[in-house]
Amino acid sequence: MIEKTDIKSHVLSELQREMEKIGEKKFRAAQIYEWMHKKLAEDFTEMTNLSLSLREKCAEHFELTVLRPVRVQESKLDGTKKYLFALGDGNMVESVLMRYRHGNSVCISSQVGCRMGCRFCASTLGGLVRNLTAGEMLEQVYRVQKLSGERVSNVVVMGIGEPLDNMENLLRFIEMLTDEKGLNISKRNITVSTCGLAPKIRELAEKNLQITLALSLHGVTDEKRKKMMPVAERYSIAELMDACRYYFEKTGRRITFEYALAAGVNDAKEDAQGLAVLSGSVHAHVNLIPVNPVREREFAASGKDTVRAFQKKLEEAGVNVTLRREMGRDIDGACGQLRRNYADVLAPLSFM
Ligand code: SAH
Repeated sequence: MIEKTDIKSHVLSELQREMEKIGEKKFRAAQIYEWMHKKLAEDFTEMTNLSLSLREKCAEHFELTVLRPVRVQESKLDGTKKYLFALGDGNMVESVLMRYRHGNSVCISSQVGCRMGCRFCASTLGGLVRNLTAGEMLEQVYRVQKLSGERVSNVVVMGIGEPLDNMENLLRFIEMLTDEKGLNISKRNITVSTCGLAPKIRELAEKNLQITLALSLHGVTDEKRKKMMPVAERYSIAELMDACRYYFEKTGRRITFEYALAAGVNDAKEDAQGLAVLSGSVHAHVNLIPVNPVREREFAASGKDTVRAFQKKLEEAGVNVTLRREMGRDIDGACGQLRRNYADVLAPLSFM
C-alpha cells in the first residue's frame, strides 16, 4: 500500500518535488496548489484543469485534509459563529468567526487539547491529544470562509492549544496562509497567542515575522501567575519580559498582553499598578477580558464596575488598553467549551 502524505501541508517547492516523484511535470504543482489554497477545493475531483488520470493518481498518493463541520452555532447577540470541526482521525477542534467593522476574523485551534494546564481554561482539561498539521490549521480558515461565504481578513491563533508548543507546524501554517499563491493574508493581520514559553518567544523573534504576538499574562507577580498557570513555574515574569523585549527589538512589533480578570484573584488596584509597570517596560498593549466561567473551573468573572475601574487605572498610567468584547457569550463562549460540551453529549451515548 502507498503511504499517503498530507498534500495540504506541502509548500509549493515541496509539492513540485512530490509531482516529480510520481512522474508528473513540475508545473502541475502550481495548479494543484491553487486549487487547494486559493480556490479551497474539497476534493481532487474538483480540480477540473487536471486530467482525470492525474486526479486519480493524486487521490492514490495523497491525503487531502478536509475538515467536516459537526456543529455550527451562531450568536444572536453579535453574529459570531462557532464551528466544531471533525479531523480525519475523528478528533475535534473549534474555530470561531468573529465579525468586526474592520473585517472578519477567524480564531483557530493549533492542537487537539493542550498540555499547559491553565486553571481557568477548558481546552486543557483532557490534556494534549496531538498537534495539528499545517494543513489542518489552514483548513479551519478555508472551511470557515467557504461555509460562511465571507472573506476572512484576520486570523488569530487563540483557539484550543498552545501554538508555540507546535512551532514547526505553526511556522509552516503562517508561511502558507500569507503566500500570495494562497489566501495571501497579510502577516500584520495574524496574531499568535502564547501562555508564555520564553525560549519559544525568542525562537519566534529570530524569524522576524511581522505578526502580532500576544502574551497571556493574567497575573503581575510570579506568585499570582502560578495560581492561575502552571507554566509560571517554568518561566518567571522577568524571563518573559526579557523575551518580550527581545521580540520587540527584533521585529519592531508591539506585544499585546492578554489579561483575563477573575474576581478577587487578579483584579485589585495593585494588580492594575503592576500591570501598568510591566506593560510600560516592554511597550505592550493591554487587552482585558473578564474571565469566562468554565463549569469545571473555580474562577468567576470580575464585576462590571471592577473591570471599568481596572481599565481606568491603566489608562491613567498611560497604558494603551482595550477591553475585549466578549464575542458569542451565548454560544459556549470560552475557549474549548464547545469541544468539552460535545464530549459530554457523546459520552452518555457510548453506553447505549
Ligand atoms: N495557549 C495560548 C492560546 C490559546 S488561549 C495562550 O495561552 O495564549 C487564548 C486566550 O484565551 C489566552 O489568553 C487564554 O489565557 C484565554 N482564556 C482561556 N480560557 C479563558 C477563560 N475561561 N476566560 C477568559 N480567557 C480565557
